[in-house]
Amino acid sequence: MITLKQALELSQEELQEFKQQLAAKIEQNKELNAYIDVQDFGAGVPIAIKDNIQVKNWSVTAASKILQGYIAPYNATVVAKMLEAGLSPFGRTNMDEFAMGSTTETSFYGKTLNPHNQEHVPGGSSGGSAAAVGAGLAIAALGSDTGGSIRQPAAYCGIVGMKPTYGRVSRYGLGAYASSLDQIGPMTQNVEDAAILYDIISESDPKDSTNAQKDDKVVPNLDPSRKLKIAVLPKYIENASKDVQDAYAKAVNALQAAGHEIVEKELMDAKYDISAYYITATAEATTNLARYDGIRYGNRVVGKNLEETFIKTRSEGFGDEVKRRILLGNFVLSNGYYEAYYVKAQKTRHIIKDEYAKVFEEVDLILSPVAPSVAPKFGELANPMDMYLSDIYTISVNLAGLPAISLPIMKNGEGMPVGLQLIAKAYDEQTLFDGALSLEKEVASNN
Ligand code: GLN
Repeated sequence: MITLKQALELSQEELQEFKQQLAAKIEQNKELNAYIDVQDFGAGVPIAIKDNIQVKNWSVTAASKILQGYIAPYNATVVAKMLEAGLSPFGRTNMDEFAMGSTTETSFYGKTLNPHNQEHVPGGSSGGSAAAVGAGLAIAALGSDTGGSIRQPAAYCGIVGMKPTYGRVSRYGLGAYASSLDQIGPMTQNVEDAAILYDIISESDPKDSTNAQKDDKVVPNLDPSRKLKIAVLPKYIENASKDVQDAYAKAVNALQAAGHEIVEKELMDAKYDISAYYITATAEATTNLARYDGIRYGNRVVGKNLEETFIKTRSEGFGDEVKRRILLGNFVLSNGYYEAYYVKAQKTRHIIKDEYAKVFEEVDLILSPVAPSVAPKFGELANPMDMYLSDIYTISVNLAGLPAISLPIMKNGEGMPVGLQLIAKAYDEQTLFDGALSLEKEVASNN
């Protein structure tokens, strides 16, 4: 598959021919179920869009039954920026319902398969975007990351996935899951493409009140020769699988070979991250999903009065995982439990943030696993608690609002990709991309 950088050089004629071939290839690989719908919404370079990002006049469902038939009334800011830059939305990708999940199994449209081995999950919630890029069915894609949903499927499908600093990319037109954590980001074949797409979508936006209104660009200053100080976490990675530990050792060697300084650091036991994240995320999700009442958006199941209409619409429209989270969110916000759970989670969030800040007083980047293992097989994470625990290495980055990038390091004996992530200080995407580019180069030269 051509890269985004190459595609931006194509003539209009070459581009149209390429799009026809791409549509045919997507059709031939339908069994992967990476796409929910394929249509071309512009004249530019085709980019796959996760089904929770609005493209004007195109359906947007967040892979939920409750939004079947809903048509987006306006473009998300990221889509408007893409169109201005000569890219066009081409295909809506499958995902976990309302971005809640780690495997893309909770989609109303059925599961997406991992292109490296169809018995394995592609990861989630941006599993369709990751599978599309990993299978050569997209040049690049957009995903959203609330607790790892860009980085983890990228790692499982052998591609690059980047989560910007919270507030860097406008959330206007993104279906909200947990508003204090959500960020849209690029999913691409390589680090440079991620930087190109990131620069386009991260332009400031007055329509999002949490947008940082910063317009510094990464690509003109990309410099993989910069020598950086990078923290490694020997204790933090102890519970990861052998595949992940092998990849970690390989990446540390590569970073050293590239001339970076490696410093050993530690982070707090990641088990607290899981509690703080699932309390915060479900509390916010409960509030955000209250708007799907059958009156204002999407599907309605009519009852004999308004209350019954709400109940029937939501009972039939939401899937099990979404209902579980609405229940959990209501519980942690309810009178009598709010102090014990929600307030505590917010305090823990501050501790996590401070901990990162302390490490970043001394280093430029942190090297961390993305997931405890390679992509699990379907059904292995059938127990919700096992699924939540698999998010252990990604969610603290969202709780702290930091930028991070997941990139492929190696494949295990069965040919499954292993990715790792680099994490940077808030708003230091430049250093993040410079370090990632250096690591990518060094890993490629060793393979
Ligand atoms: N797996 C996590 C969750 O289910 C993260 C999802 C995401 O980042 N959207 O909440």
